[in-house]
Amino acid sequence: MSVEVGARPDKVGVSRRCVHVHASGKSCGGFAIAGSAFCFAHDPGSVGKRDAARRRGGQARRVVTLAESNVAVRSLGDVVALVETTINDVRAGRVDVRVANAVGVLANVAIRAIERSDLEARLAVLEAVLEPDRARTVAQRRRA
Ligand SMILES: [Zn+2]
Repeated sequence: MSVEVGARPDKVGVSRRCVHVHASGKSCGGFAIAGSAFCFAHDPGSVGKRDAARRRGGQARRVVTLAESNVAVRSLGDVVALVETTINDVRAGRVDVRVANAVGVLANVAIRAIERSDLEARLAVLEAVLEPDRARTVAQRRRA
């Protein structure tokens, strides 16, 4: 009697692998459940339990989000307000932590974009004052 390396032997020392063979011809390789020659995924008697487990998994993965709402994120003040609201929503359990994390990442993207936009606007003003001819040319090039 031999035992496969890495296989979990049952009480009599025989590895109990699922006997299901995939369409590709490859064996399942999963451990057979007690009283069956199949693993949980392939046991014909476990259909109801599998469906219930799938439903539970789906419910556990469901992300809690707020009702559809559009929030302006055009200024640093907007971003601070969004982050503040999100912090309070996640603390109160109204928003999933994963949503809050995504909001945090996107808030950082928004902050960088707002800062860059502000810098470009200030630079354009400075260029217009210091080099009016050049600023006009750059502005014309941007419009083209
Ligand atoms: Zn199997």
